[in-house]
Amino acid sequence: RHPTPEAPSTDPFALAKSMSGLHFIGGRYVAARSGKTFPVVNPATGEQVGTAAEGDAADVDAAVQDAARAQKGWAKTPARKRGAMVYACAALLRTHQDELGRLIALETGKALRTESRVEAGVVADIFEFFGGLGGELKGETVPFAPDVLSVTIREPLGVVGAIIPWNVPMLLMALKIAPALVAGNTVVVKSAEEAPLAVLRICELLNRILPAGCFNMLSGQGPECGAPLVAHPLVKKVTFTGSVETGKIVARAAAEKLIPVTLELGGKSPMIVFQDCDFEKTVAGALTSMRFTRQGQSCTAASRIYVERPIFDRFVTEMKTRVDAMVMGDPLDEKTDIGTIISQGQFDKVQGFIEEGRATPGATTLECSAMPTDPALKKGLFLRPVIFTGLDATSRLVREEIFGPVTVVQPFDDAEAVLAEANDSEYGLAASLWTNNLKVGLDLAHRLEAGLVQINQNLVVQANLSYGGVKSSGLGKEASLEAMLEHFTHKKTIMVNMG
Ligand code: NAD
Repeated sequence: RHPTPEAPSTDPFALAKSMSGLHFIGGRYVAARSGKTFPVVNPATGEQVGTAAEGDAADVDAAVQDAARAQKGWAKTPARKRGAMVYACAALLRTHQDELGRLIALETGKALRTESRVEAGVVADIFEFFGGLGGELKGETVPFAPDVLSVTIREPLGVVGAIIPWNVPMLLMALKIAPALVAGNTVVVKSAEEAPLAVLRICELLNRILPAGCFNMLSGQGPECGAPLVAHPLVKKVTFTGSVETGKIVARAAAEKLIPVTLELGGKSPMIVFQDCDFEKTVAGALTSMRFTRQGQSCTAASRIYVERPIFDRFVTEMKTRVDAMVMGDPLDEKTDIGTIISQGQFDKVQGFIEEGRATPGATTLECSAMPTDPALKKGLFLRPVIFTGLDATSRLVREEIFGPVTVVQPFDDAEAVLAEANDSEYGLAASLWTNNLKVGLDLAHRLEAGLVQINQNLVVQANLSYGGVKSSGLGKEASLEAMLEHFTHKKTIMVNMG
């Protein structure tokens, strides 16, 4: 059944209702086999805006069986034609950018102008980039013997299981399904409990162009719906984004079946600021890097900022002034810079860290921005951004991922010492350096233990650039041609003896 409107909708509330309680399997919206649902809540008001189907092993089996059937035909579709279809999805997604932005703002509380509409735009970019790569699924000829032709070809893996979190669900889904589809695989996605609807709408849009069964979407809880997806015998690859803890569970289950797994996990990303930086640009970069606009709910958030001592006080003061100027409010209001935290559980977790920081002797707590005054938002999960100073390297706030609007700023005197501190972390996702001395910047960039190091900028994911962490932050890369080839195909060797 296709309950959603054909044309872009400007009413996310109506759209959320229309897709309530449904999975997307085999090109159709269907209810869970058990008939169970769970509520989807607008974190800005606390109101229920819809429901999601509560998937279990029976739904997983139905979706995987459909995906496996569809994969046989899809793999035979010429690679450039598959790419052209994925490319065509990009234009359709762009037509629906505002609609998707509104829907994701409604279910996640991320501000429409600064975050949600931007995310929907990146989704279209990702489809466009990978759609152009159909012709790049090439192998090699390998010298062997004069009368032996030795070649490699790229073959799809089969059905890919994709598991995503709630912070940028549409973008992370796109990074998984677009390359997987172009490479000839079909996909079953398990959405995040907190954000099941915008990704469900994307399925209906893609279904207007791609064959039924190529991609399927299930909602449900991790252990009841995500775990059976990883364990299903017909799932030949798992690509996961989420916490380190769950990533390890997924990796262990994948190892049981000896299937490949890609993991994009948490971070505690350092930002190192030298006194010779472009001050204005760097303070602006700190706000972007910390992603206050998303209440800090970003895996690459600059949650540890190290500032060279001579500019430390000025930097902290200016940072607070700028965060104070940001407007916290209704995520759907164009004036809003900062929306809400995703859920009560996450809210309580972040509050716990803030209280711990506040109670630490010697620490200074700077609370920024003003709470929204609209009575309709009084039950919203709004949290004032917090900047801590005076915490030392042993603090849990310096060591653990908070995933909230909390950053710790510390002074430093010596580049070697700050490098050692930055690297003294179980994580290794991203890092940034701010200096006009490129010699120092490049030297440190080489020695920072991170999958992504940026000097004097902080950009979001780019479809054509490898992205992924080292240490506990992940295994394998996403984005880029190389990620499509390495993670969504296997190389088969064929040898022909012509003698
Ligand atoms: P999470 O690990 O709690 O959940 C992620 C997904 O895994 C959800 O869909 C969940 O239902 C599913 N899941 C839970 N238990 C499972 C199980 N036993 N088997 C299979 N699936 C299971 O993470 P979250 O709280 O949704 O997301 C926040 C985390 O994601 C943070 O740590 C953040 O850093 C990380 N993240 C990383 C990146 C990256 O690119 N490296 C990007 C975004 C978010």
